[in-house]
Amino acid sequence: MAHLEIDNLEKVFDTPDGEEVAVDGVSFEAEDGEFVTLVGPSGCGKTTTLRCIAGLETPTSGHILLGGREVTELPPNKRDISLMFQSIALYPHMTVRENIAYPLKVDGVSKADRTEPAAEAARTMQIEEMLDKMPGDLSGGQQQRAALARTVVQDPGVFLMDEPLSDLDAKLKAETRKEIQRIHEELGTPVVYVTHDQEEAMTMSDSIAVMNDGQIEQFGSPNEIFYRPNNLFVGQFIGQHGMNVVDAEVVDAGQGVSVAVDDYRPELRIEEKPRRLSTGPVKLGFRPENTVLETGDEHGAGIPGTVRLIETFGEEAVVTVDVGRPESLLAVIDSNRPLSKGAKVQVRIDRNAHIFDSETGDVLAHAEQSQKQPA
Ligand code: ADP
Ligand code: MG
Repeated sequence: MAHLEIDNLEKVFDTPDGEEVAVDGVSFEAEDGEFVTLVGPSGCGKTTTLRCIAGLETPTSGHILLGGREVTELPPNKRDISLMFQSIALYPHMTVRENIAYPLKVDGVSKADRTEPAAEAARTMQIEEMLDKMPGDLSGGQQQRAALARTVVQDPGVFLMDEPLSDLDAKLKAETRKEIQRIHEELGTPVVYVTHDQEEAMTMSDSIAVMNDGQIEQFGSPNEIFYRPNNLFVGQFIGQHGMNVVDAEVVDAGQGVSVAVDDYRPELRIEEKPRRLSTGPVKLGFRPENTVLETGDEHGAGIPGTVRLIETFGEEAVVTVDVGRPESLLAVIDSNRPLSKGAKVQVRIDRNAHIFDSETGDVLAHAEQSQKQPA
């Protein structure tokens, strides 16, 4: 176990077309026992960051410290780190035991000294009785556990995992996700986990680094990232249904902040006195889960729109509403609610809206709709 510290990491690749800045000043820490996830769209620099930590890439600048020791220039096998890639393929011609022990063999550990760690890793992954079988004799789930055993066998200071679930079908994905969480809990070894899937990040992590274009947009707990996004990018990337964003205007930036979306004036309660808020155009963000559709057509009670699409997922339905703007709005409703395509609705914010700078996208204020006193 060890504390991992990444300090101002930068990686620039020379390509025929010029320089490609893959990682652009990334800093974060993984505490002892912490599960940290780097999440972001394809090409944002997640894998390159992980490969720098593993020692498979040399950073252009910056420092990597493990347990207080600088490892930036050390070869991979001197770092006390184990890396699990997206492709978890076991070697088909080796037994499960040989597969699990393989990283130790590469490290020059003698055959006799590989036996016990391999058996121990197999015990951790509950596939002890499979040790002498060939990978082809294992179920999909058992193969995943053998691959995880091969990752844990080195007993590293840090686990690095790069999209380990992305090639799996839904059932195996769910199973392997639980196994990864279980071994993390059991071994207490910090994990740096890479995924493009925000749901994986939100469900597995203690801390999340949301990456975009080589940089970390926000680092925080899943709760912070979800409820207090730093900017539009984080707000829209995180969350099962992303975030609705509309052009709005701050009409009062004094004690009682007031925001207008055309005629609609949601009553927002700003959590803390915002420093940078002034009257003028802003972007208002609110989650589909916090969006209410009213069917009364009282003028000014919401953003008027027309239901274009209803997608039902069990108890919930996601409704797409055209509101005469380039972007349509989404609302999550109870799937039993009788609402049909073409219905006229007023889109209202239930709670948890966010006011963003209309130019930079940086958050200006987090707001909650004030609780209406019952009449
Ligand atoms: P992610 O894992 O988030 O999808 P990567 O770290 O793989 O992103 O890539 C980040 C950026 O760096 C991309 O634009 C990619 O094309 C570029 N890149 C990655 N590896 C190399 C390389 N070996 N040579 C040149 N460019 C690279
Ligand atoms: Mg990648």
